[in-house]
Amino acid sequence: MKTIDTIYIDGQFVTPHGTELFDLHNPATAGVIGQVRLGDAIDARKAVAAARRAFPAMARTSKAERSAMLERLAAALETRRAELLDAVIEEYGAPVSRSAWMVDYAVGAFREAAKALEDYAFVRQMGTATVTMEPLGVAAIITPWNANPGFIAARLAMVIAAGATCVIKPSEMSALQTQIVTEALHEARIPAGVFNIVNGRGDVVGAELSGHPDIAKVSFTGSTVTGRAILRTAAETFKRVTLELGGKSPMVVLDDADFDAAIPFALAAGFNNSGQACIAGTRILVPAHRLKAFETGIREAVAHVRSGDPRDPATTIGPMVSQRQWDRVQSYIRKGQEEGAILLAGGEGRPEGAAEGWFVKPTIFTDVRNDMTIAREEIFGPVLSIIPYEGDEEAVAIANDTDYGLHAYVAGGDPQRARAVAERILAGRIIINGAPMEMTAPFGGFKHSGLGRDNGAFGIEALLEAKAIMA
Ligand code: NAD
Repeated sequence: MKTIDTIYIDGQFVTPHGTELFDLHNPATAGVIGQVRLGDAIDARKAVAAARRAFPAMARTSKAERSAMLERLAAALETRRAELLDAVIEEYGAPVSRSAWMVDYAVGAFREAAKALEDYAFVRQMGTATVTMEPLGVAAIITPWNANPGFIAARLAMVIAAGATCVIKPSEMSALQTQIVTEALHEARIPAGVFNIVNGRGDVVGAELSGHPDIAKVSFTGSTVTGRAILRTAAETFKRVTLELGGKSPMVVLDDADFDAAIPFALAAGFNNSGQACIAGTRILVPAHRLKAFETGIREAVAHVRSGDPRDPATTIGPMVSQRQWDRVQSYIRKGQEEGAILLAGGEGRPEGAAEGWFVKPTIFTDVRNDMTIAREEIFGPVLSIIPYEGDEEAVAIANDTDYGLHAYVAGGDPQRARAVAERILAGRIIINGAPMEMTAPFGGFKHSGLGRDNGAFGIEALLEAKAIMA
């Protein structure tokens, strides 16, 4: 049993004023592995005050100083790589292959930010005006449990690059990972108060931050429902808000696609992060005249997808993070069947051999209509829906017939045609034929998937205000 009983304020580990103890679990066994003492509204206010005190000096730092801080943060986190990797597996249940990527992504986020900072023009001449981009103040950073180190690192990296300060409230379910990250970042010798990290409940610490008058900006990553509540609260004090929310992303398989490549691409996009990914490609759009062949191919391929022990290198789908998340996934699998979708693979219950833990079967429905619940709502588990279509026009129409617009994927034989389809899809990011992620490109969603963009120059700019001086 591990106990996390400190939070990080003003450069120091301190005992929170809050006294609530919250259980931490290993999702692979469902057992309790630790406890975290949660901060409360008073802790949140102390952290905001520290960030506010640190702001004027941080805002005056040069590019070179911020760059050096970013490199120190990357190096500090790197030294705890092995321990963090273990915590990501133990507390979140990410399979080994995935967890290594998650930790390296977190370290890389600081170095990517340093590169973006180098190229960023904080002062520009526009006609007669000198335009300066100034850090906007204290940011509140609220993050989810599905990639805890990465979100803390990526958002903090942008704060440092912009010359702002922040209070971070990570998911209360990720406290073991947060503790390792915080201890590592503490070693980077960043001026006290520049970043503060407060464990706490969303409706306590998160709500206090989203309404606090000294918070200039809320950068929230999480569900669309919570994002909407934060936006309302933030409106009272005109906070700047970036929201990275949910998705129901289409994977458009064009009729000239090579299924030997398209099927692994669809499974990788759909089962990414055990299906607990905002960018998961959960609606697979398949041309009706090739549906049978696609179904046969994907049924064979999914039989080799292993859902089980996250420490086994052969595993690609780990357990769901919590009982609540397991129940949620089961309820959608039931709902899909009730609404008349055909179960092609998987289904309710645990996979064979998994007696305990929050394991689910990789599940694929076919003959799904885009108006069914499983095609409209974010499930956040490895449950995919195959939706047949007639012609590219209809494929684009179905792809765009959603409240969301975070991500999309296109598989096709003719690169120009695939790109033409991608250009018509309303989504913040689109990957064609398994192309790698580009870290410097903006990340964010259309429609209910969010507001604003993170990463690279867009991410820095989201923490700045423009000032024009004419003399
Ligand atoms: P969540 O909205 O329940 O919680 C996210 C964070 O918000 C947590 O730290 C939580 O404690 C806090 N929170 C909860 N209620 C709050 C309130 N009233 N005020 C302020 N903060 C509050 O989301 P989750 O279940 O942790 O994460 C899963 C969701 O996150 C999915 O919908 C997923 O799509 C989304 N997500 C989006 C992105 C993206 O980049 N677009 C990335 C990862 C996850």
